[in-house]
Amino acid sequence: MAEFFTILVVRPAAEPSCLQSPIYSNAMQRRLSEEFALVVADSRNAKVKSGFSVQFIPFSDPRSTKLWSELPLSTFRVHLVQQKKDESGIISLVNRVAPESDAKALMAQMKAEGGLGGRSKIGENSAFVSTTKFEEGLLFDSTVNLKHLTNAGLQMGGLAAHELGHAMGIPKNQGNGLMSNQKFVIDLEDSNVPISRVHFEPNDKKIILPTLEGIAGKK
Ligand SMILES: [Zn+2]
Repeated sequence: MAEFFTILVVRPAAEPSCLQSPIYSNAMQRRLSEEFALVVADSRNAKVKSGFSVQFIPFSDPRSTKLWSELPLSTFRVHLVQQKKDESGIISLVNRVAPESDAKALMAQMKAEGGLGGRSKIGENSAFVSTTKFEEGLLFDSTVNLKHLTNAGLQMGGLAAHELGHAMGIPKNQGNGLMSNQKFVIDLEDSNVPISRVHFEPNDKKIILPTLEGIAGKK
């Protein structure tokens, strides 16, 4: 059975060159696939168990700017945004794709956590992840190597998974795993970054799986 769910990762409108690296995006894609494969492995619902296809799309793709309610319920969208460089662009994006949300409050949360996601307040199935930490870490550094790009992709994949966890129904940070209240930093050497080594915990799955099973049941 092909994957029932889709995660669409939307690249930033104006993209710094390092974000185009397939090494980075493949690592991010791999992390997202692995984390959600672990979540659905426990489900007895065949559609849920079929899991997620993770796709990167350019901002020019029409699915990037659709209202959240125009996307299929089985699609979860993550916008990668440049919080520091393009605050007004993000506010207009949020107003366009999730107009019932408070864009200013979202910006404050993004600054604190590095991203945000939610079902009711910012639009069902939507999450936004700031690439700022990533850009600060390596954009203009000529010493960036394959290992750095891989580490950054894995760590950004972890942050995107956290925000999607909120979009799948977890209201607040919890526990010691991917949904914990950790401060997100990109560490290119990956020497001491908790987000590299944590997964969704049983209490996270208890919320995410019923959300996914509810969506699968509606089709
Ligand atoms: Zn959170």
